[in-house]
Amino acid sequence: MIIAKGLGQTYSSGGRPLTVLQDINLTIEPRGFVAIVGPSGSGKTTLLGLLAGLDRASAGSVSLDGVDLAGLTEDQRARFRAERVGFVFQSFHLIPTLTALENVLVPFELLDGSRSNGAESQARAMALLTRVGLRDRVDHYPSQLSGGEQQRVALARAFANRPKILFADEPTGNLDADTGRTIIDLMVELNRDVETTLVLVTHDPELAARANRIIRLSGGVVVEDRMNESA
Ligand code: ADP
Ligand code: MG
Repeated sequence: MIIAKGLGQTYSSGGRPLTVLQDINLTIEPRGFVAIVGPSGSGKTTLLGLLAGLDRASAGSVSLDGVDLAGLTEDQRARFRAERVGFVFQSFHLIPTLTALENVLVPFELLDGSRSNGAESQARAMALLTRVGLRDRVDHYPSQLSGGEQQRVALARAFANRPKILFADEPTGNLDADTGRTIIDLMVELNRDVETTLVLVTHDPELAARANRIIRLSGGVVVEDRMNESA
């Protein structure tokens, strides 16, 4: 489902090359829940960006859902992400001028402008917002929602296109512990319902312990990759 081979990223920093990821080889099976952990600066966000096709790798290859990302143009990658990938970020990334419902409709807009007004899209967006407990908040703007509520809207949006793969980068990083747990519970439930592959970056050991597999990065290399039997 996700296959990374010899994946690496080198930035040019002050004219000198800075390698932040090196020789990453991974196969992530469909419908799994994988946690990527490691200290700040270890390359977690960089790896997620490469696996998700947000950024281009300077070395190696990524195949996502059977498609070699290196063979796609920027536009094709954007289209591919809109069709098959969902994202959840630490800072929610909702559009401030759109209501909760309109934010959840954005993925439909990206796929096909006309579809976001369709009854089917509206119904799916409403069902997702209900599922995350926000039925009575659908007309609220992000500024009128708490952090936990905003992240629930972001979750509903991430699942709108029934993604094959959901990438989450520190999705509980801006939330208190209890709210964070609620978000992860919802993410795991939705992940099961929609049969998504979930790749979660976190430095919270409690969250990582929920995953079926834990991959640890340090200094841009994988230092541990183990199944988590207790999840
Ligand atoms: P993590 O998510 O584990 O905290 P990151 O992947 O964000 O780590 O960053 C890994 C390293 O790469 C850091 O040292 C960071 O400073 C560096 N880095 C990230 N993005 C860039 C960039 N665009 N240009 C130069 N260096 C970068
Ligand atoms: Mg990061």
